[in-house]
Amino acid sequence: MNFIIQDPIATTTTRIGAAARAVSRLAAERAGQLDREGGFPAEDVVHCHEAGLLAAPLPEDLGGSHLDAPGMAPVLLDVLAQIGRGSLALGRLYEGHVNALSLILRYAAPPVRERLAADVRAGHLFGVWNTQPQEGGLALAGEGAGTRLTGVKSFASGAGSVTRPLVTARRPDGRQQMLVIDLEPGQRADLSSWCAQGMRASTSGILDFTGLPVDAGAHVGEADDYYREPHFSAGAWRFAAVQLGGIEAVFDALRAHLGATGRGGDPHQAARLGESAIAVETARLFVGHAAALANDPEAEPDRVIAYVNLTRLAVERAGLDVLERAQRSVGLAGFLQTHPLERLSRDLATYLRQPGPDRALTHAAAYVLADARPADGLWHEPALAPPPVHAS
Ligand SMILES: Cc1cc2nc3c(=O)[nH]c(=O)nc-3n(C[C@H](O)[C@H](O)[C@H](O)COP(=O)(O)OP(=O)(O)OC[C@H]3O[C@@H](n4cnc5c(N)ncnc54)[C@H](O)[C@@H]3O)c2cc1C
Repeated sequence: MNFIIQDPIATTTTRIGAAARAVSRLAAERAGQLDREGGFPAEDVVHCHEAGLLAAPLPEDLGGSHLDAPGMAPVLLDVLAQIGRGSLALGRLYEGHVNALSLILRYAAPPVRERLAADVRAGHLFGVWNTQPQEGGLALAGEGAGTRLTGVKSFASGAGSVTRPLVTARRPDGRQQMLVIDLEPGQRADLSSWCAQGMRASTSGILDFTGLPVDAGAHVGEADDYYREPHFSAGAWRFAAVQLGGIEAVFDALRAHLGATGRGGDPHQAARLGESAIAVETARLFVGHAAALANDPEAEPDRVIAYVNLTRLAVERAGLDVLERAQRSVGLAGFLQTHPLERLSRDLATYLRQPGPDRALTHAAAYVLADARPADGLWHEPALAPPPVHAS
């Protein structure tokens, strides 16, 4: 009799991969209809829940698949890119959910973590809402049992649908406190400001928390933990992975168009397709190494931050290059709503906008300037060891 011994990590990876592909395929089919104000992908979120993807980042003892563990980074990368390829809006929402769970697992006290894990298993969608207007942002007011929230969060993906947002709120001493707030669906959200060119189904509107009570069970971590490095900056590799999926979707639409129209053999078209393939692979290589560095407990924190910052810019550049080439190659047809490229381009162009890109680049440049290692040792350990020094 032959016994087949199954590797539990390989089994989990196969199961999660299959779930992400199924979610991505159906999300791609529904994305066109959801490309409108208020078109939140509710069915896709339920699909994520039923396929085990909402709970996947939790450790096994909390009912998950350890997707947030450092050793699972390549799998998480594929899941994020896969979902982003099907629907960038769903990818944005799922990345926010994963980010929230990662912060909760890292910083929340055990009873808070266990209560919130039960909410995840029950199908609540989480998100991270940090962005706010210059005036009227979120703050904690009052003391003890009388503590309440005042103010709003803006560009809050899933506003009105995310029922467990992790938010940052200013404390009376000026420092920022992470809180997870229980919300009822459909309440307190104002989507009228979310009139964006793309990513409409991410419903990234305004949510007004004014008057909501806050108890100790809502607190996640200590003051300013949200900004603790290298995790704050390094976590950007995850949105870069979702962007990668959006770039691959545009690339696939370009290639399909060239195939269908028989224009791919033309040398100009072939050159643009080849350059696009380089851009896609550049983005994938950068995101892969960023994910590895960000999840390596031995990696130097400043090196991780610098590399992830470069990755943000490299992926943005790759996305802009593929967009430019796809629009030039397909021409006006790609700007008609009947063409797949039309929405994919708008979604990608919008989602490439992330905070402080200039700062990310100059921060990485400052690291490179100060580092004495030669170019081959900046981000990788050189394969060839330096020659031994012989005593004379
Ligand atoms: C689809 C989508 C969903 C989102 N969902 C969420 C969410 O769920 N939660 C959340 O918290 N946020 C969310 N955001 C907001 C996001 O995190 C960023 O805040 C937002 O994308 C910033 O975009 P921006 O281009 O205005 O960035 P900015 O940082 O304002 O950059 C704009 C330009 O100004 C430059 N710049 C920045 N600061 C300065 C300065 N001080 N002086 C001079 N120049 C400067 C930048 O380098 C850049 O060139 C979402 C954004 C998008 C696109």
